Amino acid sequence: MIEAGGQTKRYSAVIARQPSFRVPRRPPGRRDAVVGAGTVVVATGTLSRGESGPGPARPAIATPPTASAAPSGTSSPPAPPSQGQTPSLALDLDDAYTVTATLRDGIAVTAVHASGKLVIPFDPPLGAEERATLSVSYLGQPPAAAALDFWQHGAGYAATSVAEPFLARTFWPCVDAPDDKAVATVTATVPAGYVVASAGLVTSTALPDGRIRSTWRLPQAISTYLVSLNVANYAVVEDTYTALDGRTMPIRSYLMPENAAANAPRLAAMKNHIAVLASLYGEYPFVDTKYGIVSSEFSGGMEHPTMTSIGENILSNVPRDITILLVHELSHQWWGDKVTMRTWDDIWLNEGFATYSEVLYLEKAQGRNPGATLRTSYDDGLYGGQLAQAVVADPADPFKYTGAVYDKGGWFLHMLRRLVGDDAFFSGLRAYGDAHAWGTATRGELRALFEQRTSLDLKQFWDQWLETQFRPTFRATYRTSADASTVTLTVTQTQGHTVVHPVAGPNDKPFYVFPLVVQLTYLDGTTSDVTVVPTDFTTTVAVPNPTRKFVAGIALDPGSDILKIVESTGPA
Ligand SMILES: [Zn+2]
Repeated sequence: MIEAGGQTKRYSAVIARQPSFRVPRRPPGRRDAVVGAGTVVVATGTLSRGESGPGPARPAIATPPTASAAPSGTSSPPAPPSQGQTPSLALDLDDAYTVTATLRDGIAVTAVHASGKLVIPFDPPLGAEERATLSVSYLGQPPAAAALDFWQHGAGYAATSVAEPFLARTFWPCVDAPDDKAVATVTATVPAGYVVASAGLVTSTALPDGRIRSTWRLPQAISTYLVSLNVANYAVVEDTYTALDGRTMPIRSYLMPENAAANAPRLAAMKNHIAVLASLYGEYPFVDTKYGIVSSEFSGGMEHPTMTSIGENILSNVPRDITILLVHELSHQWWGDKVTMRTWDDIWLNEGFATYSEVLYLEKAQGRNPGATLRTSYDDGLYGGQLAQAVVADPADPFKYTGAVYDKGGWFLHMLRRLVGDDAFFSGLRAYGDAHAWGTATRGELRALFEQRTSLDLKQFWDQWLETQFRPTFRATYRTSADASTVTLTVTQTQGHTVVHPVAGPNDKPFYVFPLVVQLTYLDGTTSDVTVVPTDFTTTVAVPNPTRKFVAGIALDPGSDILKIVESTGPA
């Protein structure tokens, strides 16, 4: 996601929806394990906003009948739950809504909706391999900060949803956690002239009353914050992406009709964006369905799977170059949508990856040096080197420390690339994508994967860049021996903090450890590079100087491959 602020207008509307999704059920005490069959939950409902006098016709988005899935097949009398059984399911649903009916396999059950939870009892308890279909009907006015917005567009209305991070529950009942991935189907019925846009591929039916019912299906499991719904009088713009293996995939974008032609160059560039990222990370993850963008009432971009939302204020500002925004959101299809952070405190696994994807795109498509790009465009240079707090985000507000989550996260990947080399880095990223495809991952799992593939102990590296706030500060001196046969380099780390090690290890260092390139410039203008790996806060190395040329000056990290501050360099 990239959010650039901006006010969202809210208007009255009526909507009902029928998301159907699978809820993986876990045995007690094991949050990370999915055992047994999932439960199919089908929700239907009606949302309404307060009416405020006459206005343009509102889209009435009505619901189809509730779908059903495999019945539980059990008719045993109520019994206390035993090992492996689930006595109830708790869904997140904002208290603004009134639940009017909850059904289990078509039979009404008494659910309790309070404090943002809808607790649905299973009586008898759900068995370990048992399936059930739940239907939740609900209505009400969305809370002020809801995922779903209705906004005026021209003489009509439009609807936009952006649920990241915690707003899916303001939109539909679900287990609103990123690790609870599910296959989602979104159905909406709209008046003639309106178009529904969401993830995957659509089938639409004209109803006898003239309305259009559209059902969007995405085969892959996604996190609830990625489920989206967009409605407007969109113009659909088609293009084609040719995959690395020659397959073709539609690029289908939903734009406001008045802006569609003017955005043609932006849309045409997207197939090249996909090709560049596919060459880096492996094929576009949803190549079997589509990619596209959709105009939304959101001042930024949001990586909804196969259908990135881009703010209408951006799409209507045609002179603006939005290449980096488009590449950022596209990269989330790999990093965020296909592989999702397991918990929000690893949001940098989404945003740091997307940020470095911007840098990599500029390197690959425009030949820009990635270190220079990071130094000039991805370092806010805050006093003392504090980008923000640690990269590990505030769980109550994952996007609180955006400088760390986005920029330091991007720097981290660049430094890892420089440490392990391009081959290990890019093959490692692909292996990470494969290992956690359609699932979730943690920074610890990323480390384990790179350690396994490189045989390096990466604990110090992970700790110093991910667990530690700030960045190192350097002072460096040089001294040439009297006969000029040796140059002595001294590199001192002068930062006012030590490296944090949340878990102690035998090789932990309180200072930063990495290969630091020191460039020597000789009096005749020639240069040579020396790599110094710090062994303490002050590290001194004697460098042979066979040419016996005198050194005129030194530079630390001339390629800008390390996030750092250089306090001073000069003769000892
Ligand atoms: Zn992002």
